Order: sequence, then C-alpha cells, then structure tokens
Amino acid sequence: MAQEDVFKKVVSHCKEYGFVFPSSEIYDGLGAVYDYGQNGVELKNNIKQYWWQSMVLMHENIVGIDSCVFMHPTIWKASGHVDAFNDPLIDNRDSKKRYRADVLIEEQIAKYEDKIEKEVAKARKRFGDAFDEQQYRSTSPRVLEETQKRNALHERYSEAMNKMDLQELRQIILDEEIVCPISGTRNWTEVRQFNLMFKTEMGSTADAAMTIYLRPETAQGIFVNYLNVQKTGRMKIPFGIAQIGKAFRNEIVARQFIFRMREFEQMEMQFFIKPGTELDWFDKWKHTRMAWHRNLGFGDDNYRFHDHEKLAHYANAATDIEFRLPFGFKEVEGIHSRTDFDLSQHEKFSGKSIKYFDPEINDSYTPYVIETSIGVDRMFLSIMCHSFCEEKLENGETRTVLRLPAALAPVKLAVMPLVKKDGLPEKAREIVDDLKFHFNCQYDEKDSIGKRYRRQDAIGTPYCVTVDFDTLQDNTVTIRMRDTMEQRRIPIAELRGLIEDNVSITSLLKKLK
Ligand code: ATP
Repeated sequence: MAQEDVFKKVVSHCKEYGFVFPSSEIYDGLGAVYDYGQNGVELKNNIKQYWWQSMVLMHENIVGIDSCVFMHPTIWKASGHVDAFNDPLIDNRDSKKRYRADVLIEEQIAKYEDKIEKEVAKARKRFGDAFDEQQYRSTSPRVLEETQKRNALHERYSEAMNKMDLQELRQIILDEEIVCPISGTRNWTEVRQFNLMFKTEMGSTADAAMTIYLRPETAQGIFVNYLNVQKTGRMKIPFGIAQIGKAFRNEIVARQFIFRMREFEQMEMQFFIKPGTELDWFDKWKHTRMAWHRNLGFGDDNYRFHDHEKLAHYANAATDIEFRLPFGFKEVEGIHSRTDFDLSQHEKFSGKSIKYFDPEINDSYTPYVIETSIGVDRMFLSIMCHSFCEEKLENGETRTVLRLPAALAPVKLAVMPLVKKDGLPEKAREIVDDLKFHFNCQYDEKDSIGKRYRRQDAIGTPYCVTVDFDTLQDNTVTIRMRDTMEQRRIPIAELRGLIEDNVSITSLLKKLK
C-alpha cells in the first residue's frame, strides 16, 4: 500500500473507531484543532503514564509539577518568545495558500536527498554483493552533482535562517524554482515574520486588562517554579522537574492531521545540572530517551537522531528524535542543552536571585539545563501509524488490526457471552466485575462473535474471552490473542495472572532496565 494511502486510512480509522475527531465537527470543524474520543483518550493517557512513570517513578531525583497555562506576560519577554518566536511565512498569490518559507526550502533539500538515495539504491541492486557504497557515493557523477546541489542549498539556507534574512529566503525559493503544490506557480509574495503565540486579555475592565499569552511550551512553567521546587523538595543538583500539559501555537501551516496542531500537549522535563557537565548529561538523556522510544518495539530502523546544525543562540547542543511516519522521518521529540539561558533571563527580568548553593564546592551558581521535550499528539500519531495493519487472512478476508503495544491499548480485555441468554451474560459480567479493578475491560454482547473480534482488533484490544455453555459447568473460557488469533481454553481464575502483567505500564518500564 502506498504510504499516502496508509496515512489516509489511519486518519479515517481514528475517526471511525473513536480515537480522534475534528474539533467542533458539527460546525464544520476548526483548523488544526482535534478532540480525542473514547478510545483516543485511553491511548493518550497510557502514553502519558508511560512517560510520567519513566521519569518520575524511575528517577528518584526527578519530580513533577502542574503549572498553569496562564502566566505573567513578562515571562514570555524573558524567554524570548515575544520577540523571537516567529516563523517566516510566504503566500502564493494564485492559490492564496500560505506556507512556511523554511519548510518549503527544507522540502527542496529533502528532494535532493531522495534523489541521491534512489541512485544509491539502484546501484546497490545492480551491483549486488560487490557493491561498495562508500566508493559509489564518492565517485558517481550523478550522486556527486546532486550532493553538491544539496550542500550548496543547505549552506545558503542555514546562513539565511541564522540571520533571519527574509529577502534571501524568498530569493532561495525563486532560484530553486519552488512551485506552490496547489497552483503550480511561482507567484510568491514577500516573506514576513509571524509570531506564533495566541493572545488574550485578563481582567474585568477594558482599561485594567492585561494582555496575556497562552503558553506556547510548558517549559517556562518549570523554570519559574525552579526555586519553589528546589527549596521545598530539598532537591540537590543534578535533579529534574517534569510536566505534562497543553501548549498553544498559532501554526501557519497546520496540516498532516494531529502532527501539527494549534492546541496540543507536551511532556517536558528540565534537568538542572552543574555548568560544565552539560555535554555528558546531554549525551545521557539523548540515549535514555531513544531507549524509551525503542522500547515500544516498533523497530529500531524507524528512529533516528537529527542533530541540529543551526543552534538557538542559547543552546550548545541539540538533537531531535525523528520517527518514520508515512510522510517521512519527522521530529517527535527535541533534546536541548539550554545552558543557563532561561534561569538567567528570569533572574534578570524578575530581579530575584535564582542560584543554587552547591555544598560540594561551597559556592553558588546558576544551574545549566538539559531539556527533553516531546509532543503527546505526535507520539500518538506515530504509534497509530505503526500499529495500523490490514491483514489478508487465509479465507480471503481482510482484517484491520491495531497492533498497539498491549500496555498502551485502550481496552485490555473484551468479555463476550456467546449468546445473550441462558445465564451467559451474567457470567460474563461477573468476570468483568472482578477484573475491572485491575485493567480496562469491556463487555460486548452485540453481533456475532466474529464481528465482535473484528471490532476489538480494530481498537487494538490484546485479549478477548468468550463465555459459553461449558463456562457455566467448568469455569473455563476461550481466550483469543489479538496478534496471532490463537485461541486457548483456560480457567477464569487464571485470567488475571495471564493478562495483568502483559498489559501494565510496569511491564514496559521493566523492559527499559
Ligand atoms: P516543529 O519544528 O515541527 O515546528 P519545534 O521544533 O518547534 O517543532 P519544539 O518547540 O521543540 O518543536 O517542541 C517540542 C515538541 O512538541 C516537538 O518535538 C513536537 O513533538 C511537539 N510539538 C511542537 N509543535 C507542535 C504542534 N504544533 N502540534 C503538535 N505537536 C507539536
């Protein structure tokens, strides 16, 4: 199946099975805002739990907080968001569509990279075992030509972005003959800066109202609570503060479903350390976070690091963890070494001393910070894309199955009476009532057993049990496994032991060790 089709199917599957709905749908929706449905919210909560527990439960020196969306507006002055949280935008006059100039150019760079990879793949096929990839890359005239074009463009682009030279960004788009994918023309406007923060007013009278921003990241709520947590928790450096919460960005181009939303959720952890140790900690967190992703079992090939060449002025190392989505490798998480930039800025703007007294060296300093920042919704999307599967069965039918890691699945066990009478529903409910305290169970009596299995496969339920007439005699049930469709007869008393360990977040955390 073409990757584009996979993506379309995932989007409609999300809606059909109660994972994600367009927001305000009966009013024709609202751009790039989505709601999570009955199954989506369970999956999302499980993702958040997996993250939270891997941070707060597994590290005795990491604690959590929950700060507000509304914060004092000066915070966003101090953090640089008021002046510099901008994207360069450009419009196509014919289609009237708006684009991010940087994204258009990055896509052009990716096209050169694609061409190079296709050439290499063709040669690999042609030469078979005798293929020397390194030699081919350094001698093939076609590969060299495309590499040279790619590098020249990359260099010009990096320079323009570093200087935020808007005219040069436009010139690159013209020189590269980039066309609007809708109109197919090169009729571009000037490039303009656009601030991504949403504003609103706080206060009851117009005169006294204060303009405040909806936070575009959760991190600042952690920085401004640094002293509170450090003091009341008697935290010793190195230590971390974790937070999960909503963030808001008025994204210019909001496409690709929940990949880029205007209201989304982040899971961020700021790790406070002694200056000079940041590169070691950066490396440690880079690998810890990658292990967390790989632990879900989607295949190591689907992840890669993308180290930043253009660093923000305050950062001295930064990388993205990218995941292979149907539309290419895309960032799901950023890991940044932010030096003492944020705490120093808040010290400057608030006039309060934000220092740490280090008893080991008997001196005070402003801590450095390593940040790990991941989007819940992007994580959700990558999990959906990799779990979605259409399988041809031996009888010629196709079954749609969500191969979710069992610990993340919305429902862990579906309990189904074979028929809706003769005491079977009562027996099935007894099982649910007993097990519902331990994991999420669903009772399902409607339609044929086959249809019920399909419904559970489609939402990723790892186990189904059927209650039949034998159950009433011997207290055994048929258990069916989602992935293999294997069925077994087991005593009801063994259900909890068989299922609980496999579907708990703890099972995932234990594998992380
Ligand atoms: P991008 O370059 O894709 O705009 P970013 O580099 O601005 O992302 P960060 O500011 O580093 O993103 O935010 C950290 C994480 O938050 C990202 O890795 C992503 O998972 C998530 N995120 C950021 N913006 C959005 C959005 N508009 N919708 C959904 N998730 C987002």
